[in-house]
Amino acid sequence: MLPPSRNKRMKELSRLINTPLSCTCGRVHEVPVRSLSLHADMDAVAEACLTYIQGRNLLVVSDLTTYELQARELIGRLEQKGFKAGSCLYTEAKVLPDERSLGQLLMSSAGKPDGMIAVGSGTITDLTRMAAARQGIPFLSVPTAPSMDGYASGVSSLLAGGRKTTYPGVTATAILGSLELIAAAPLKLLQAGFGDIIGKKISVCDWLLGHTLNGEYLCPYILGLVEQAADSVIARAEGIRSREPEAVQGLMEALLLSGMAIAMAGDSRPASGSEHLLAHYLEGAFLREDREPLSHGLAVAVGTVCAGMFYHTVLNSAEWVDKEQITAVREALGARQPVPWQIRSWLADIGLSASPADYGISRELLREALLVSHFTRPRYTIFSFAAKLGILEQAAERVLDKLYPL
Ligand SMILES: [Zn+2]
Ligand SMILES: [Zn+2]
Repeated sequence: MLPPSRNKRMKELSRLINTPLSCTCGRVHEVPVRSLSLHADMDAVAEACLTYIQGRNLLVVSDLTTYELQARELIGRLEQKGFKAGSCLYTEAKVLPDERSLGQLLMSSAGKPDGMIAVGSGTITDLTRMAAARQGIPFLSVPTAPSMDGYASGVSSLLAGGRKTTYPGVTATAILGSLELIAAAPLKLLQAGFGDIIGKKISVCDWLLGHTLNGEYLCPYILGLVEQAADSVIARAEGIRSREPEAVQGLMEALLLSGMAIAMAGDSRPASGSEHLLAHYLEGAFLREDREPLSHGLAVAVGTVCAGMFYHTVLNSAEWVDKEQITAVREALGARQPVPWQIRSWLADIGLSASPADYGISRELLREALLVSHFTRPRYTIFSFAAKLGILEQAAERVLDKLYPL
């Protein structure tokens, strides 16, 4: 039996997936996920394949860890139910979401399967989503760790030519995980999920900035959902770190909610701002330099620290407070943008450092990310605003001086 507060959140999630919402923002929001459970065994996943996939030819995508955890058993269950279940098994220790891995996935079945099942977390889900979208087939997600918010979203974040790029994809028809296994994921994956979620405290500020200064569409309802998701997780950081089941469930639900917000808005705007621009830039740089990959969620945690300091510097430095539009921005944000000490204390609660140097990020690389990442994607953020005011470089140097004291 689930604790009452979490039951309420699951009900809210279930309501979002099954009812198109005519919103006060003027749009109808719909999440194309048909079924959602965090208490599903492999029989339930095989049943869902019978319900949601037309045809008998399936492909199960996993890595060595998730194959042993769930995919092997799932393949057996599917065959018992009369499916022909092929396997795309990544055997490398760290699977990259790149062209090579996508090619391997597409070459794993003789022809076009009727549907796919992604058994894994970020990389496996993003690769499967992309392959399913390009082949015009449905996919089901079996999440194995609360490490990122992409399970319910409709976009894939993949490496193309060594750069992290967001591609439109399809939303999973069903998301069927086992909370028991999800809560047993390595601590670094729980910390990564926490990092991805605290980034929303920045992304909603960037969305408001884009709305106020750049005339962009904004839905207050979706913005509120994302904010709530972030606040509920931040309040339970220590519980997540010590794997209290209710806290880990709350993290997973918040990640699902954030992904749904992306699906409802039609793109990643509500959940991805300047902190994600920095994160994607840093992740790509590590790979280009042939270094051990920087996990997405930890990169977002660092991005959140830096973007939070950047906001604080731009909006509070004495010589800039009179600049045109700074007052409008401060009014639009209200008390929303997190102050740097808060972000540091959230990270301390989950057991993460707030110093980029501790992640192997040099001052030079971070300077490049602060100055260049906003060119990588047409998205209005605090960096666009600073560039327009002509203070991007000065603000970046101030943030760097604080992050890398002599
Ligand atoms: Zn709306
Ligand atoms: Zn993310």
